[in-house]
Amino acid sequence: MDELALLIELHRNAERQGPGGDDETRLAIALSGLAAREGLAVADIGCGTGASTLVLARELDARITAVDFLSPFLERLEDRARDAGLADRIETLEASMGALPFEPASLDAIWSEGAIYNLGFARGIAEWRQFLKPGGVLAVSELTWLTQERPADLEQHWMLEYAEVDTASAKIARLEAAGYTLLGYFALPERCWLANYYRPLQARFDAFLEAQGRSAAAIDVVAAEQRELALYERFSSYVSYGFFVARRLHDA
Ligand code: SAH
Repeated sequence: MDELALLIELHRNAERQGPGGDDETRLAIALSGLAAREGLAVADIGCGTGASTLVLARELDARITAVDFLSPFLERLEDRARDAGLADRIETLEASMGALPFEPASLDAIWSEGAIYNLGFARGIAEWRQFLKPGGVLAVSELTWLTQERPADLEQHWMLEYAEVDTASAKIARLEAAGYTLLGYFALPERCWLANYYRPLQARFDAFLEAQGRSAAAIDVVAAEQRELALYERFSSYVSYGFFVARRLHDA
């Protein structure tokens, strides 16, 4: 199996594929003002197996298009939606987040937790804006520095992995420059990384390695996850995912 296939195997049975939490999805929904509205069209981009999709479907009067480029994740999301009695509100769409097939100004909200980095924050907020109705909501979580200064080890790691990592104030300025106004911001608490994401991931390592016959490639995949996890544990006061909830301005 190649690295992508191994990563899919390791993550497909997880509740979430990145740091986050149902309470934090609900907090972002509260900041968005969407719960008061009816008949919404919402896209959840880079939805994985649907942690946020299921919360959105429960909390909103909405049709949700759950978008990911990995069909094994979407299949799992469909099973979860059926089990939760939410299948009639959710449609899955296998597509790349850089080539979305939505009509211009067709969506009331674009949701994306722990995924916009795959396109890059600046490119994502610029390209997705056209799909939002004027006044529509963009809600994204994104790797964010919690302080103005940070240890060099941490800075070097993330600058190599994701050079767009920045402070919340810099991300908010980017949103404003791209034609949005901020509705709210919060940083994910440590629990979203450890209890909700890394601990369940660690608990799957052994069974995953066993199923892969302890291949060198599988061992490499686990080692990379462990390095990222150890880095987070060391430096959790300096970095998290920031949750940015913004509204598309009307064109000037
Ligand atoms: N939102 C989910 C998953 C986050 S992990 C959660 O919070 O649990 C990032 C997701 O983005 C993965 O499911 C991955 O398959 C998806 N992804 C990565 N690059 C993508 C791309 N170019 N187009 C569409 N989806 C992509």
